[in-house]
Amino acid sequence: MDVAVVGGGQAGLAMGYYLREQGLRFAIFEGSDSIAPAWRERWDSLTLFTPRRYSALPGLRFPGDPDGYPSRDEVIAYLEEYARTFDLPIELNSRVRRLTKENGSFVLDVDGQTVIADQVVVATGPFQTPSVPEIADKLDAEVWQVHSTSYRRPSDVPEGTVLVVGGGNTGFQIAKELSATHEVFLSVGSKQKPLPQRIAGRDLFWWLTKTHLLSTTVESRLGRKLRYRDTLIGSSPRELKGKYGVELKPRATDANGRTVRCGDGGSVEVDAVIWATGYRSDLSWIDLPILGSNEGLRHRRGVTDVPGLYFLGLTWQWTRGSALIGWVKDDAAFLVERLAGANPAKTRTVPERVQAAGARKEG
Ligand SMILES: Cc1cc2nc3c(=O)[nH]c(=O)nc-3n(C[C@H](O)[C@H](O)[C@H](O)COP(=O)(O)OP(=O)(O)OC[C@H]3O[C@@H](n4cnc5c(N)ncnc54)[C@H](O)[C@@H]3O)c2cc1C
Repeated sequence: MDVAVVGGGQAGLAMGYYLREQGLRFAIFEGSDSIAPAWRERWDSLTLFTPRRYSALPGLRFPGDPDGYPSRDEVIAYLEEYARTFDLPIELNSRVRRLTKENGSFVLDVDGQTVIADQVVVATGPFQTPSVPEIADKLDAEVWQVHSTSYRRPSDVPEGTVLVVGGGNTGFQIAKELSATHEVFLSVGSKQKPLPQRIAGRDLFWWLTKTHLLSTTVESRLGRKLRYRDTLIGSSPRELKGKYGVELKPRATDANGRTVRCGDGGSVEVDAVIWATGYRSDLSWIDLPILGSNEGLRHRRGVTDVPGLYFLGLTWQWTRGSALIGWVKDDAAFLVERLAGANPAKTRTVPERVQAAGARKEG
């Protein structure tokens, strides 16, 4: 095939839209048995912080009130509809175990089957392997503990005291939800800047767009600063304590039995712990020289040093929007120009089917 896309989340689907437009021969390989499994693994009550008008992929409007905030299930339904509308060639249950290059072509081991492609787009997500600190092993077996990817709803969490570890959006939102039914502590290792969801009657993302902060690139002076500043959207420590009665603790540093010790020398006796402690990336299946001297992926806007190998959907791949559902299209459109440029004989004008479907849905 011309292009193999690895990953059937929103980034892989957006890439698929543009590859269809170009008339390239491609397939999207998804390791799970359904598209967008990452959204399915998120908790039941999750509401996006991006309003519907900022939660659409290219060519298909997100249904519903554009100023309202979509639920997790709406996003899943939207992405399923997206794949159907553009008839995207998605291979489910197809995990790419190894990617290498032989005689100028990419060779993908897709669960034992070999696929040969001229070019590859890796869209395996900014959040891959759940990361849990080693102190988790020191807790007693009767302490119920999960990573946030396995948390679904408060009724699954045993009665008593819950410690949520992690001061990002996930930690704050889970702590708020649990506060209605449990005694909750939130351990915050590094403070993030709180930003209100709405300012002067407008959504935060309206302001970020208007002020061009969402199009500030990682190569600008401001972008270089912003990329290391995580933000809390629609939550704050003051609100969490005052409105939800959640007690804040500093970084969780050690554990023993049912006790979790914190950076200030204090401790919490816990019945349950939810580790909202983020993810590690896993590039171990890519057997190609893609890493820089710091062991991180070396790329410029998703273009790696290996000719024909691209990434899409990385955090700050180019802008703050790169890993967001409503902005991933910008990097996808940039990459497809490269992909098509490397394959000029095979590209053609927009197929009628895509044009017609896009016009119908967008109009
Ligand atoms: C809790 C939470 C809330 C968020 N809320 C918002 C929000 O409100 N608005 C917003 O815009 N963004 C939000 N995001 C950020 C972002 O939109 C999501 O993380 C989104 O899922 C990223 O999409 P993706 O396609 O890049 O990656 P993913 O959705 O992670 O998709 C990657 C896919 O690749 C597959 N895969 C991985 N490895 C392989 C392999 N080797 N072979 C085959 N398949 C593979 C995975 O199974 C997965 O389906 C949120 C993120 C989190 C964690």
